[in-house]
Amino acid sequence: MNDKYLIHNREADLAYVEKALACGKLSGTSDIVTAYEQKLADYFGCKYAIATSSGTASLITALYSVGVREGNEVIVPCTAPIMTLLPLIALKATPVFCDTIQYGFGFDINSIESRTSRKTKAVISVPMWGYPNKLDALKRHCEQNGLYLIEDAAQSHGSLIENRHIGTIGDIGCFSTHDRKILSTGEGGFLLTNRKDLSEKARSFTQFGSMSGVSFGLNFKLSSLQAAIGLARLPLIDSQVSARTKNVHTLAGMIRNSPFEPLPVQNGCTPNYYALVLKRRNGEKIDSSFLRRLNEFGILSETVRYAYRPAYRYPLFETYRTECPQSEKLIEGIFTVPVHPDVTEEDISTVADCLCEG
Ligand SMILES: *Cc1c(COP(=O)(O)O)cnc(C)c1O
Repeated sequence: MNDKYLIHNREADLAYVEKALACGKLSGTSDIVTAYEQKLADYFGCKYAIATSSGTASLITALYSVGVREGNEVIVPCTAPIMTLLPLIALKATPVFCDTIQYGFGFDINSIESRTSRKTKAVISVPMWGYPNKLDALKRHCEQNGLYLIEDAAQSHGSLIENRHIGTIGDIGCFSTHDRKILSTGEGGFLLTNRKDLSEKARSFTQFGSMSGVSFGLNFKLSSLQAAIGLARLPLIDSQVSARTKNVHTLAGMIRNSPFEPLPVQNGCTPNYYALVLKRRNGEKIDSSFLRRLNEFGILSETVRYAYRPAYRYPLFETYRTECPQSEKLIEGIFTVPVHPDVTEEDISTVADCLCEG
């Protein structure tokens, strides 16, 4: 199924790139980057935005800025993808995997309470495929234990919890603008925060520690050409999300009598439908022969694309194994279908036919 996201406006892309070229300076300290950051902060409704060279760079920056260092523990849901986890390895921090709720990617609060220790420094929430879950209990737990809450919102541009954007609810929100993400600049990312102190630390980290030789940092800046593309495409997030939501409604109507149903959405939460997550109505496992058949129809589930599994089942993370029975069950019982703006009515019928066959 075509994967080009035709919703982008080539003329707007070119106009902003022209502007960036006219500006002369192409580096990450160009005015174009500052303008992009201002627009990001405005759109998401938060005080500070810092553009970075990737989502990975934004995660490393966030972790370093809240003080994660060698030996610190960072709590992550075991439903997180390796992209969330590799930055922890880069900083020599220890991932502590927690169980999730039964039908969502939010933390099981009992699991997180039992796995918090004196070494715990931060928690990363990871709404997979843009599916948010309420964060009140998690925030309370973080406040009571002096933990920082980082949101890995790389798949969640435009997802909301009670009208607040995912990525603005914790201490720092990290986003990717890789080509496959809802806001795309080719490669790139940004982070959001309402805290001045964290924004200053993060800014400094992305610019060689302010070149002072006093504090550590790397070069994680976004170039002005990428920021220009971001400026052109930022106004399209809402139409991206509404096109996806419309496709979800169409498909949901067509599969009402099939063995499958959409993963339930928690009250007050609005997913961006980065992908549509489906499960069997009877809660049974999704077997690989079904996924192969989907693939023959041209439908590649993201769970197949990423060899999706509980994080401690990847060889790199085996040593951090914990018990996460609910996540295990969730992961074996779900798959995704594409609902991006280039998916046509005909594509949706094909998907529906395939699902109705079971
Ligand atoms: C894409 C992604 C990342 C990594 O972002 P890059 O820009 O590719 O470095 C991190 N976390 C999640 C959840 C992602 O989907």
